Formats: sequence, structure tokens, C-alpha cells
Amino acid sequence: MATAPSDEEMLQAVERRVSRPGVTTRLTVPGAAALTWQSVFECRIVRSVERRTERRRRVKGRQSGLANRPTYTHLGTYPVAPPADPGAQRRLELVQEGSLAEEPCEDCVDGKRDCEACEGRGGRPCPRHIECDACHGGPDACWECDGTGHPRTKRSRAPRPRPEGAEARAACKRCRRADVACPKCLGERQVTCPVCKGTGTAGCGTCKGAKRLRHEECGGTGRFTAWTEGVVTHTPAAEELRPAYPPFSKLRKGQWRTAVLTSADDDLPDFLEDAHLKQAAPFLAVKEGEVGRRVTLRYLPLARVELRTDPDRVYYAFPEASGEIEVIGRPSRQRVTALAWAAFAVITLAALVTLTLLR
Ligand SMILES: [Zn+2]
Ligand SMILES: [Zn+2]
Ligand SMILES: [Zn+2]
Ligand SMILES: [Zn+2]
Ligand SMILES: [Zn+2]
Repeated sequence: MATAPSDEEMLQAVERRVSRPGVTTRLTVPGAAALTWQSVFECRIVRSVERRTERRRRVKGRQSGLANRPTYTHLGTYPVAPPADPGAQRRLELVQEGSLAEEPCEDCVDGKRDCEACEGRGGRPCPRHIECDACHGGPDACWECDGTGHPRTKRSRAPRPRPEGAEARAACKRCRRADVACPKCLGERQVTCPVCKGTGTAGCGTCKGAKRLRHEECGGTGRFTAWTEGVVTHTPAAEELRPAYPPFSKLRKGQWRTAVLTSADDDLPDFLEDAHLKQAAPFLAVKEGEVGRRVTLRYLPLARVELRTDPDRVYYAFPEASGEIEVIGRPSRQRVTALAWAAFAVITLAALVTLTLLR
């Protein structure tokens, strides 16, 4: 890998940039130029952080898949290989040796429980008959026998004249007279219960007569599986060290030096400057739970050059990918400030002139 250009090489490049035909500026002469290194250093680290947790678990039903999981005795010492890619998320589920057991459900029998609504009867008692809602079981049940079956008179009477528009009467089931009884209950004062249809038992709306229901807590299986679970996770955590530097898009085409480190024991690359090594050391310290890392380092030598003969401009020099040194010229900060003041002065003067003319 090429080494960074020297102070002299940088100054010579600026020299070529500022020289005009016939005029040669010697910048390497002491006092002609001031050079400061402002090299760009970027550092990104992705750590793989491991966490180990243990808890007791209990789930409904039989869990046949658990028998295939790897087992451990002490979670803290169980060997887990560090991830090949520190940027990958990973989760390893383990079962503590000898902790796996099946427990019967104590709140049901074979996954079923008596229906709570009907207490396991499948229904509730219900009257077989209800009062007729046309005659209300009163005297209108039958004009002859009042629903008793005993006519008031032994003799047959001529049928009572029915008022105009009134409902036709029926033959009484009790006293057998024609045209005297309530047409709904036929003189019996009551009708069959529509709820139980005369059976004396109304079905339970909850279990629909099944008496027993599936026990949801155990999933209708009548058992639970319990075990001690150990979980090992590898979670990527990324951090970036990206100092501010002059926003020149041309820097992208620079001859960046890069390095990738995969272990905390790897040495930092020797192309870095001392200041960068000092910045990187605390940033790259090993963190708690870290089991893997990938560090990406980028470096571009960049020099800032000021000329004694031209205080209005500053120059930035850096090596391009081809190895040539590229120079960017910018107005100096004093120059920018001075220009801003000049612009302000012009505006103020213009305003004064305008006001003066308008008076
Ligand atoms: Zn159960
Ligand atoms: Zn009923
Ligand atoms: Zn009757
Ligand atoms: Zn009736
Ligand atoms: Zn029920």
C-alpha cells in the first residue's frame, strides 16, 4: 500500500496549482506556506452482543419438538460458537437437562369440563305447558265448561250468538260442545310449552346439550408440558465514528486506505495517524457481552495549506485514486467574512442613497 504523501509533495502540488506562466511560487521555502494535516478518518464497528436468559415455561398440550432441542446443564458455561457474521441476529433455544416433563391438567378430565351454565346437566327443568295467551286460562277458555270439562247445564244449549267480527269458536276438548272453546287452547286453558316442546327440559344454550365443554386452558388436551428454557441471543450493535470534514464531493475519488478488523486482538493499521489511533482506542474497547466484531476503517490523507502571499484563499490537497495529488482552492474564512461585510456595506449605502433621494 502506498504511504501518505509527504508535506513537501503536498506543497509542490499546491505550487503547481497556483503558478502562472512566467511566475513561479516556491512554497517549500520556509515561511512561504503553512501546512496542517486534516486527514479524514472514519471508523465503524458492528459488535455481536450475547445475552443468556433462563426461565421456567409451561405450555398446553404435548410438545414433541422439544425433545429435539439441544440440552445444557449450566447455561453460563454452555459453549456457543461466536457468529460468523457479527451483523446477523441469532437466537438459540435450549432445554435444561432433565427439566422436561408432562403434567396432567388439574382443572379438567381429558381436556373437558362440565358446562358451567347447566352444571353438566345439558339443560334445565322447564314446565311442559304454559297458560294460553288468547284466553289467559280464564272463563273464555270455554263458555260452556270454563275449561273444567263439566258443563254448567246437563242439557245441551243452543250455541250463544257470536258478536259480529269476533273470532270463530272451536269445539271444546273437555266438554266436547261445538263452537264454544278458545280456538287456541281448545278449552284446555294451557298450551304446550314452545321452549321445551312439552319435554320438560330446555336445552343449555352454552353447551347445546353436550353437558361437557373443551377446557381452553390446556387446549382440550388434558395436559401441560413444562421445562426450563435457556435462550442465547446474538444481537448486532453498530456504532460509527465520523468526524466532520470539509464537504468536498471530490474527496470521494480520493485514494482512501481501508482496513477490516474482525477481532479485538487485531492491531490497528499503521497508515493511521497518532491522533486517529487515540480516537479509535476508547471507541473500539471490548464491551460487555461482546462475542464478535467487524471494524471498518477508512483514511484519506488531507492537508490544508495557507499561502503568505495570498491570504484570501486556502488550499486542500489529497491523493487521488490514481496517485496524483488533487488540489481544491476555496476562499479563506477571513475572505468570506470580508466579502459578507462588503455586501452588507453596499446594501446599507444603497438604502441610504434611496432614502436621501426620496426626501
Ligand atoms: Zn384442562
Ligand atoms: Zn317448557
Ligand atoms: Zn268446554
Ligand atoms: Zn285458550
Ligand atoms: Zn350446558
